[in-house]
Amino acid sequence: VDEVEGETAEEPTLYLPGLLEASVSGKWDVTEASKDYTITISPSKAKELSLKSGDVVGVVGRRRRASYAVVDIAKASKSSVKLSHNLASNLRVRDTDKVKVVPLEGESMQQFEATSGDMALLAKLPEVASSVTFSPVKDSLHSLELSEGGDEVSEEEIMSRFLKPYLNMEEGVVVLKKGHTLVLRDADRKSLEFTVTHLAIGEDNEEDEGAEEADNDESMLHNPAEKSVGAIINESTDIIIGSSVDRPEVGLGYDSVGGCGKAIKLMRELVELPLRFPELWTTAGVPTPKGVLLHGPPGCGKTLIANALMEETGAHVVIINGPEIMARKGGESEANLRQAFEEAQKKSPSIIFMDELDSIAPKRDQAQGETEKRIVSQLLTLMDSLKPNSNVIVIGATNRPNVIESALRRPGRFDRELEIAIPDEDGRFEILQIKMKDMKTSPDVDLFQIARDTHGFIGADLQQLTLEAALECIRSNIQNMDVETEEPIPDEVLDQLIVTNDHFMYALGV
Ligand code: ADP
Repeated sequence: VDEVEGETAEEPTLYLPGLLEASVSGKWDVTEASKDYTITISPSKAKELSLKSGDVVGVVGRRRRASYAVVDIAKASKSSVKLSHNLASNLRVRDTDKVKVVPLEGESMQQFEATSGDMALLAKLPEVASSVTFSPVKDSLHSLELSEGGDEVSEEEIMSRFLKPYLNMEEGVVVLKKGHTLVLRDADRKSLEFTVTHLAIGEDNEEDEGAEEADNDESMLHNPAEKSVGAIINESTDIIIGSSVDRPEVGLGYDSVGGCGKAIKLMRELVELPLRFPELWTTAGVPTPKGVLLHGPPGCGKTLIANALMEETGAHVVIINGPEIMARKGGESEANLRQAFEEAQKKSPSIIFMDELDSIAPKRDQAQGETEKRIVSQLLTLMDSLKPNSNVIVIGATNRPNVIESALRRPGRFDRELEIAIPDEDGRFEILQIKMKDMKTSPDVDLFQIARDTHGFIGADLQQLTLEAALECIRSNIQNMDVETEEPIPDEVLDQLIVTNDHFMYALGV
């Protein structure tokens, strides 16, 4: 049993062969044009992988995202690599994350080919794209226009200030994939963001333009460039500026959870790593973990952590809500459970998340009726039927671990347990920071003091506290406002919406 109380528990360390720690270098800039989409590798590591500068390699990041990158051999520590900003963000990699670097020939490529999905597609050199469409991201275009004095920036300008210098790199190649995002800066360091909305190899047919909107699996099948991991952009590629698009959504990742650093680290080792690199376990000769049970008081972030994992691993997700399943009639509850496990196995790698597990699987001797007993047995059978290398991991969450059928907590079922405890002062500070990251506050708001004054508050309470403080801020400012008006609220009034220490004191009832 792993107790994670405060941040004191001993952390297990895991040795990861073949994985390199990544660090992310600065945003791309005209003056360092040759550095985008590069991966910087130390001379000794390059020798080990038989790579030379300018080679194209495959890089696998988080959420099974893969991309090509151009090798740049330079001083770096042997166990780490440097990724350019745009490359890192498209691979969803942050500092200290692990990435997999794969040379595109030789033995490691064959190993690589054996892996699935995105990664297998990498295992050949990219082709040259016949055309690529860069669509500016709406709000970044808007702020660029504001900084130009409200003038619309013409396509020619976008081309000459951002795209041309980016694509005319002195050395190396640009390898892009549909859906990639790029932050490009002009010579004055003004930035504009783009999404690659269309990419074609060879003879491209016009119909694809229409299919682009749909962005479903089917349209991907008709366009080889989009099915593949990417294509090289060079002088022969047609560069098209598309109409502006909304910023791609970013979900609720690990950043949204505060004060649970140890627990998240452990969960990543228990869930994310085995789903992403099951070969680590098979090579070590042990089965991948099957189930993890998160327990602890309500409102401390169990669901939040599970959501973050589902978001960040990119695994297929099946959610089973305890009380909802139990409300079904006849044999439907068991059938639903079976379906969930089947779907997870078919679409693996998958995570099955069972919220309020205690309601599905109470101790059999305490179960009230025959139905409940049958459902517990069904769940035991289903967990046992998951094959060791099925690439499916079950996360259970409960406020009452002691009510759960003990047979479920044995090895091979929920074999790991992790307590998500009430946050301590540092944890509260982190949670407050997260909840207030978009809030305008006055300098007299002392987060350390608030964290100190909120002993016993859990994540959900702190969320409520910040909402109350913001509401009080709105209330106290609304007096200066003409509520009868049809006009939009003037900027001067909006600028006054600054949350002060008094608003927090009010929210705390002090
Ligand atoms: P649990 O599943 O443990 O009952 P939840 O994860 O559903 O609790 O938390 C409820 C809400 O409280 C979350 O949506 C979030 O806003 C907030 N919250 C709880 N714990 C944390 C935390 N550690 N960091 C950030 N927010 C939290």
